Amino acid sequence: MNVHEYQGKEILRKFGVATPRGIPCFSVPEADAAARSLGGKVWVVKAQIHAGGRGKGGGVKVAHTQEEAETHAKSILGMTLVTHQTGPAGQKVQRLLVEETADIDRELYLGIVLDRATSKLVFMASQAGGMEIEVVAAKTPEAIFKEEIDPAIGLGAWQARKLAFALGLKPAQINFAVAFLQSLYKAFIETDASLVEINPFITTKDDKLFALDAKMTFDDNALFRHADIKALRDTAEEDPLEVEASKYGLNYIKLDGSIACMVNGAGLAMATMDIIQYAGGSPANFLDVGGSATQEQIEHAFEILLSDVNVKAIFINIFGGILRVDRLATGVVAAARNLKVKVPIILRLEGTNVEEGRKILKDSGLNFQVGATMKEAADLAVAAAMVGV
Ligand code: ADP
Ligand code: MG
Repeated sequence: MNVHEYQGKEILRKFGVATPRGIPCFSVPEADAAARSLGGKVWVVKAQIHAGGRGKGGGVKVAHTQEEAETHAKSILGMTLVTHQTGPAGQKVQRLLVEETADIDRELYLGIVLDRATSKLVFMASQAGGMEIEVVAAKTPEAIFKEEIDPAIGLGAWQARKLAFALGLKPAQINFAVAFLQSLYKAFIETDASLVEINPFITTKDDKLFALDAKMTFDDNALFRHADIKALRDTAEEDPLEVEASKYGLNYIKLDGSIACMVNGAGLAMATMDIIQYAGGSPANFLDVGGSATQEQIEHAFEILLSDVNVKAIFINIFGGILRVDRLATGVVAAARNLKVKVPIILRLEGTNVEEGRKILKDSGLNFQVGATMKEAADLAVAAAMVGV
């Protein structure tokens, strides 16, 4: 789960990470009041969306007067912000952060991620902060310093010092930096984060250190023990179909192709997307209905698949284990009837009670196509989707 910058900063502050003072706003009058209450003479008005690159896209603006703060709030709130992370469709801005300005000396980069190859967290630091770190990583990977963290020991002060030196910090800043990095690490561990990124991590002329931006992503599987973080979810930032699917316990990710997939098990879902590509088609989604899907879930799954206008065929690929094939077939027939499904449905069924399942489909009188193998079914699905185009 992702959160907004202002929410990430609120969490980080609880762990002692220094950030500029700021106030989240949902309207222009609120932004106006926020600038007044922060005081000072210069403010930054920042679009709050779950994507980076806002600065370049025109979503971060400095205001030198109260009127200018209001003008910026007016222009940013409600705009469709397009950045390299939103894709060409962009994301509508519905929240703002009005923040005091920092007197920036240097813009640096900090990040913590899990390295799946070593099963350890890696603390990353770079002097090339403020810009697209993806570009730095691709073109000059040597500009990113990495420190692997032993989970039993945590981030040692010596490691934090090593990173601070790699950032070229001044002697007067080193001890502050060690405390800053350790607070960041503590925040990551205690919130069950899966990513923390501070870009830019800045130094000021008077040797202070601040997180000027904050990106935090949390492990969905650990949210049950963080009710406060779970409550920060902003579904307006998520794909509406994915939000709908999550209500029914379906793992759904929308893609751009024309063949909808309904599969049980994430591994089989991956294999199904591969074989569709191999057969010359492209998947419209990833959908794992899970091992114990009910008829109701299958109906909801159909509704979600069908509300994607790009879908020209539905490929159901099931290996019946806990989810018996006859039960799946009953659900599919009921859903196809209730929803009056018009797009062709192609199935590949194996596993427990497969014969009963095939019979249920056949006896339904509905027009299902059944492939004998995964490849044959994929070919049928690709052919059916072509006809529809
Ligand atoms: P994004 O990464 O989405 O572009 P950032 O929060 O990193 O958004 O802001 C972009 C840039 O705007 C920063 O690199 C920094 O130069 C400037 N900036 C952001 N917040 C402040 C602030 N409080 N004071 C001064 N400059 C800021
Ligand atoms: Mg940034």
